[in-house]
Amino acid sequence: MPRPIQAFIDQNALQNNLHAARRSTSARIMAVIKANGYGHGLLRVAEALAAADGFALLDIQDAIALREAGYRQTILLLEGFFTETDLERIAEYDLSCVIHSHWQISLLDAYPGRGTLDVWFKLNSGMQRLGFTPEESALAMEAVRRHKAVREITLMSHFPNADEAAGVSAQLAVLNDIAGKYRMARSWANSAALLRYPATHGDWVRPGIMLYGASPFAEITAQQLGLKPVMTLRSRIIAVQSLAAGDEVGYGAKFRADRPMRIGIVACGYADGYPRHAINGTPVLVEGRRTQLLGRVSMDMLSVDLTALPGAGAGSQVVLWGEGLPIDEIAAAAGTISYELLCALTGRVPCLT
Ligand SMILES: *Cc1c(COP(=O)(O)O)cnc(C)c1O
Repeated sequence: MPRPIQAFIDQNALQNNLHAARRSTSARIMAVIKANGYGHGLLRVAEALAAADGFALLDIQDAIALREAGYRQTILLLEGFFTETDLERIAEYDLSCVIHSHWQISLLDAYPGRGTLDVWFKLNSGMQRLGFTPEESALAMEAVRRHKAVREITLMSHFPNADEAAGVSAQLAVLNDIAGKYRMARSWANSAALLRYPATHGDWVRPGIMLYGASPFAEITAQQLGLKPVMTLRSRIIAVQSLAAGDEVGYGAKFRADRPMRIGIVACGYADGYPRHAINGTPVLVEGRRTQLLGRVSMDMLSVDLTALPGAGAGSQVVLWGEGLPIDEIAAAAGTISYELLCALTGRVPCLT
């Protein structure tokens, strides 16, 4: 028997979540599939989301792989180009690229192509990460606009607080003001803005996390948003221990039994991508029933309480997150967000669809 851990990727759930995005907007949908499709596998995700109007990611190699696999829609490089060779490949494979900094305009100036580049001009509207500030945007735009290689320009920005109480209204006012000066398509919204602020939708929305069936909001569940979990991380119990009152579990003795207990050892650890910071009590499903993590997560194993599950034992099915156990709950118990858990799934976990 192979080591029993596996990640099941539900392509129907991806399609369901894309439909949920479609129902929320009439804008074109740029499916964000960076970081190996948020850890789900680039081509596996693209296949299920083939009806999206575009794909956004980081690595030019991945973008080329999509083209070579036959995808014809817009493919956007979210950090744009890094070298002159990138510019040549962007033209060759008809990719779209963000321009966010003056150094990229300088690189572009040295590029001899004509009419081959579709540029997403990035505005820094308050995130303070990438993009031109409202003050510098006019000059930067002129430099991009007059370049012979540039074909079409889309305006783009990213919200820091679309999922928080601060919201988007201050940024949106600045962006609409700038966009009013140009006849160009607009793209502002991530998942949170797509779901919460229709006024941000513009011409292109850029959902990521919602497509994978996790919630962008701390206080609203994915299920409430009509989203279905895409990744289910499963394993099995490979050993059982009977504890006496006073026995301690795992490294650092972070759990101590105050009564006789049965625990199961699950073949899943932080080397698989399960968060080491998950606390005692983090929910785990065993044979479909909720129980809890006990003690520290180790590299290849973790322990769960079986005291109330007398029928469970070696070989029992375990779900770490996914179907029946929202990843957002695990993320909260580990002090992080679903995005990080999904991306952190490691290469040793076999994925199947
Ligand atoms: C990652 C990313 C998105 C998607 O964000 P979600 O919160 O996952 O919907 C959208 N736009 C940009 C620029 C991003 O980097």
